[in-house]
Amino acid sequence: MERLLDNYVAGEWIPATGSRALDVDEPATGRTLARVPLSSQADLDAAVRAAREALPAWRAVSTTRRAQLLFLLRDKLNVRREELARSVTAEMGKTLVDARAEVGRMIEMVECACAIPTTMQGRVLEDVSRGVDCETIRQPVGVCAAIPPFNFPAMVPFWFLPFAIGCGNAFILKPSERVPLTQQIAFEVLDSLDLPPGVVGLVNGGREVVEAILDHPGIDAVSFVGSAPVAKLVYERAASTGKRVQALGGAKNHLVVMPDAVIDRTVKAILGSAFGAAGQRCMAGSVLVTVGDAHDLLLPELRAATAALHVGDGSESASDVGPVISPEARERICERIAEALAQGASAPIDGRWLERERGAFVGPTLLEGVTAEMDAASEEIFGPVLSIINVASLDAAIALVNDSRFGNGASIFTESGAAVRRFRHDAEVGMVGVNIGVAAPAAFFPFSGWKDSFLGDLHAHGPDAIEFFTRKKTITSRYFSDGAVSAPYFVDG
Ligand code: NAD
Repeated sequence: MERLLDNYVAGEWIPATGSRALDVDEPATGRTLARVPLSSQADLDAAVRAAREALPAWRAVSTTRRAQLLFLLRDKLNVRREELARSVTAEMGKTLVDARAEVGRMIEMVECACAIPTTMQGRVLEDVSRGVDCETIRQPVGVCAAIPPFNFPAMVPFWFLPFAIGCGNAFILKPSERVPLTQQIAFEVLDSLDLPPGVVGLVNGGREVVEAILDHPGIDAVSFVGSAPVAKLVYERAASTGKRVQALGGAKNHLVVMPDAVIDRTVKAILGSAFGAAGQRCMAGSVLVTVGDAHDLLLPELRAATAALHVGDGSESASDVGPVISPEARERICERIAEALAQGASAPIDGRWLERERGAFVGPTLLEGVTAEMDAASEEIFGPVLSIINVASLDAAIALVNDSRFGNGASIFTESGAAVRRFRHDAEVGMVGVNIGVAAPAAFFPFSGWKDSFLGDLHAHGPDAIEFFTRKKTITSRYFSDGAVSAPYFVDG
């Protein structure tokens, strides 16, 4: 019988009280790796209670000490870097090269949060009136919870955790029930820091725990990353209970290739963007938009390179593309390909027919002859499927990008500064790549899309994280004993 995972509450590993559990299956083999409990309301209540009790003492810990603990967290995560990456590959399926990059980004988040004594500073203006000063300070929001998706088991929870605790909040994570193992390692590392009990909590579970988080009066802020429909549900329900909320949703990202693009480098970038992590990235390139002659220049090389990709177990070094998350996801992706063909697209490279004895594999698929009206042009497939559309001009390409209900990322491939200027200015997306296929910003910059890809105001990580995880308080002050005389209404100057 596989290990049943514990929750981490009040500084202890404890079993969930909920009686139900799910198998966590390895996508490459179908083997069950562990069982994840579906925690109950009582389990969440215990974590919230511990978090609230921890808050007063934790926010009184100096910012410099909290930063030192983050430095220590960074060093200890580095020691277990390879173990974290292997866990990501086992439970999510992406290749080890990709998983190592993910863990690198996860640790970069901690490095960014180490700057808290600088980034958490407020601002002050002396003499807003005679003898009167005004200053804004930042204080923690309280108990913050995060609800991440399956596709980045290491990184996405760390878009939030180090910034939240660095700012003096308590933090509760509900990992994706499909990939709960990597965060068990992260929380073993957190446990070794001897943080005050309750500062971080881990509550495993699914939809019921999410709903309990949204309704919980003891939780002040919610960070969500996942599909667009659930993002909407989370945003509305968290807001209705008065919580601060940021909800990052789904995507349909365009890769625009101009005729002057450097073709061989562009093809490599497109392959990484469309088929890396088997297309299961919110920043995956999903629609290739070739402008004019770019189509004929690019397609022969793109078809050949796609056909040459090796699909296999992510832990094997020969694999370029791993499995998708589950057999159900495989079925769904194959159905989307069949629908595109029924709507008139063609698939010169069709990954549905990949022969594998075990595991949830779909081969990289090119859908050609796609038009803007087809679902393959507008709906997220979240698999290794690239829809290809040819248009006559950059204007038409930008119009395609902007017609999408999503607005996560879009990239342009060109050596023309003028085309880039136009594209970055006019594309209605939150993240733009220039000759970069996966334009996911580094930790020091904010990450988020626009439109249906994001509900909220403050993006993930970078300076926005400090804004999200602190409340501003503004103090206006004067003293009488120094003899300064301000006007009766201090606004009078
Ligand atoms: P998902 O929406 O199914 O699940 C995300 C989280 O929500 C999980 O923790 C899950 O337990 C919970 N959840 C699922 N259904 C729920 C429901 N009905 N009610 C309440 N909670 C529920 O997403 P996923 O399949 O794990 O992840 C893939 C999706 O995430 C894709 O759409 C992808 O584009 C998106 N994503 C977006 C970003 C971004 O930055 N915008 C990043 C990564 C992934």
